[in-house]
This record gives sequence, C-alpha cells and structure tokens, in this order.
Amino acid sequence: MLNQEQISHSFSQFIGLLKVEMETEEIEAWVDHLELLSAAPDRISLGGLNSFFCNYIKSHHQKALHKMAREAFEPLGMVEDFQLLIEPANKVYGFRPEEPTVQSVVSDGLNPNYTFRNFVNGSNSDIAYAAGMAVGENLAENKYNPLFLCGDVGLGKTHLLQAIGLAAKEKDRSIKVRWASSKEYINEVIEGIRFQKIAGVREKYRTVDLLLIDDIQFLENKDSTQEEFFQLFNELIQAGKQIVLTSDRYPREIKNLEERLINRFNSGMVAKIHPPDFETRVAIIRAKTAKREFDLSEEIVNYLAGAIKSNVRDIEGILTHIEASRTLLGQEINIDAVKRVLREVMNLETNPKNVDNIIKRVAQRFEVKVGDIKSDKRTQEISKPRQIAMYLVREATDLSFPAIAEHFGGKNHTTVIQAYKKTKEWLEKDPEIRQTVLAILREINA
Ligand code: ADP
Ligand code: MG
Repeated sequence: MLNQEQISHSFSQFIGLLKVEMETEEIEAWVDHLELLSAAPDRISLGGLNSFFCNYIKSHHQKALHKMAREAFEPLGMVEDFQLLIEPANKVYGFRPEEPTVQSVVSDGLNPNYTFRNFVNGSNSDIAYAAGMAVGENLAENKYNPLFLCGDVGLGKTHLLQAIGLAAKEKDRSIKVRWASSKEYINEVIEGIRFQKIAGVREKYRTVDLLLIDDIQFLENKDSTQEEFFQLFNELIQAGKQIVLTSDRYPREIKNLEERLINRFNSGMVAKIHPPDFETRVAIIRAKTAKREFDLSEEIVNYLAGAIKSNVRDIEGILTHIEASRTLLGQEINIDAVKRVLREVMNLETNPKNVDNIIKRVAQRFEVKVGDIKSDKRTQEISKPRQIAMYLVREATDLSFPAIAEHFGGKNHTTVIQAYKKTKEWLEKDPEIRQTVLAILREINA
C-alpha cells in the first residue's frame, strides 16, 4: 500500500513540473484540470477534462508527460515500463458544463449572464419567453402566478428563470428576489426540521417579492417538504408575491406530488419550452459565436445546427471545444476539424440500437442477461449492472432521462436519475469499478 501523502506530494510535483514546461494557455486549458485517479509503481492514471483534451494531450505531450511522471513519482518506485493513462475524469465523459455555481452568481442566486437579452427566442420558446418577460417586467401585476416553465434538460429553463429575476431587479433595485434549486430548498427544509431551525428557513423564503424555484420536480416523494412548500406557496400568493417554477415535466407528470400542489401549480400559467428548430439553432450558434468573438463559416454553422438537435447546452459545449481546439492547435477551423471535434467529444448516436449495444456490453462484463437488466429484478447482481448501464447510456448518448427509462423496459425516469447519481458517486469512491466503466466506455466509443 502506497502512502497517500507521498502520492499527493508526487502529484503536486508532477503538476509543478508541467507548469514549468507549458505555456500559460495550455496550463489554463488542461493542466489545471488534471487530476490523479490512481497511482501504482506500474501505472499512473490521470483524469483530464474530457475526451477532447485527453486525446490532445496524448497526441502532443505523451513523451514529456511520461518523463515528468517518472521523475515526480520516483519515490513510489516506478517500474521501468510503467504506464501513463489519461482518461476523461469521471465527471465529464462527454461535455456537460456545470450548473451555475455558487461562486459565479451574486448573492441572490442570480447569474448575471442569464438575461433575456442573451436568450435567443424562437417559436419553440416564445410563450415561455413572453410570459417570463411579462412577469419580470411587471412584477406587481401578478400576471401569471405562479408561472410554471417546463421542458427537457438543456433548453433554457434555468436561464429564463434567472432572466425573470434579473429583469425584475433591473426595473427596481429594491425588489427582493430569491432563486434556489429545489434540491437546495429541500435540503434546507429537511435540515431545518431536524435541527429545529425551520423558522429560519421559513423566514428566508417568506420575505421575498419574487421566488424562483428551479427544477421543482425533485419535490416528488418528499412529503414533508411538499407540506412545507404548500404553506409557503399559499402565503406568498396571498400576499401578492410572485412565484416562478421550472420543471422537466408538466405538473401532472410529477409522480407522487400531492394533488393540491398540482392544482396550485396549474392555477397560473404553464408554458412549455420545446427543442429549438433548425433556424433557431442557427441563430443560437451565431449568437454564441459572436459573443466569443470567433467566426464560423455558414457551412459549419449549418452543419452544427443539423447535427445537434435536442439541447442548447450541447451546442454550447461543442462551441467551447471548437474554440479550444483552435486556441490549442492554432488550427483554422474547417469543416473537417469540426466534424472530428464533434465525433470526439460527443457520441451523437441516439438510435435505440446504440442503447441496446451499451446494455449488451454491460451485461457481458457483469455476466448477466440483457433481459435481466431490462427487468424489474432487484437483486444486487442485477441492479448494479443495470444502474451502470443507465449511467453509461446517459453519458454516451444525448437521450433524456425519460427516454432512457423507455429503453430499460419502461421504468420510471426517476429510477434512471437515481441510478445515474449512485453510479457517479460510486465511481468516485471505487477505482476498480471506475476502470471497468472506463473500459466499457472505450468500447462504446471505439
Ligand atoms: P435547463 O435549465 O433547461 O436544463 P439551461 O437554462 O441550464 O437549461 O440552459 C443550458 C445552457 O444553454 C445555458 O448556458 C443557457 O444559457 C443556454 N441556453 C439554453 N437555451 C438558450 C437559448 N434559447 N438562447 C441562448 N442560450 C440558451
Ligand atoms: Mg436547469
């Protein structure tokens, strides 16, 4: 067993050596994002930001990295032909930018970039957009109360929700806005009840003019929080305060949500955001590239708009990668480079065959039957590979959780969300399972 302290010391040394060698641009682009996955005398395993960067590092710096690793990890007694592996770190296999983080937002939970101005409106979102504007700009009128925005992941619900808050504040600085993800709210309520601090939580949410709760679907199955939220909701509405909620589904589709809450959610205005059509995707790409100050030819814009259909977050991800490859490789961006980036970063195959392929490979590795994975059996030997398979499908395709659930014998999509989370935690804790999952992922992407 190697000493943990020694290992982390060696790793910092390694990073130090790298920083001496690399240009600032490279340091920011990928050195700062390297993490140590495991270290042994015969193998050092590093995690990189995503597959694009890992491939880039391997093809450009493999030798130098190997040399520095030998030097830095010398005290571990590296064997002559030790291996240096660089894999996408478990967090990001494909591209999935973080949700707005606490650091990037101001104190009321609003990210200043999420304005109406920065939102490209199309026929897919115009009802939600118009209703959001109406609410944000005329807060006191309670035009639609509550306003309930729903739509699939990555379509701009969080963006619009925050835009409403920003617009309201722009009109009147003194307005008190509170944005919270429902997970945050649920945690506060649960903690509040447990540690007898619920009065403080109530105070915090009751004393606002505009309450924005993101991803309210997570209230499902949370009985005590539903009760608490019901009270809060009624109080605010009665006091003429505005509430805006988002969800990945219509209120009625949220399982185990009390009828009275469903009724309340439906009592104002429910607006659904649909995936953007081709023209809107083109407009979004143009808006995003203009902001980043890089030009893409019409051919490339059209190609991208045709390739990335369902999710604006993925569009942003791909643009980040194109930009990075331009900066790092100093390459002109031509259509072939774009196609390559697209292939490397994302597996855009969303056809059912592909999902079945993933399930098949997981089944093979864990020596269970495909039919069992799709079944309702709950034994450990089957539920673990099932969870891993769900996780991999989520990572390797751009299918939504409900769509994935369909492929697993029509389970509830919350089962898939749970499986995804559990596997993610598991990967962080268990290097062995991480290796297995990485190996399957490699096969899938081969
Ligand atoms: P959701 O909350 O629905 O999952 P987000 O609001 O987090 O989606 O959107 C994901 C990313 O895509 C954000 O960075 C957001 O700014 C951007 N985005 C989504 N829709 C649009 C749009 N119509 N115009 C511009 N940016 C968008
Ligand atoms: Mg969101």
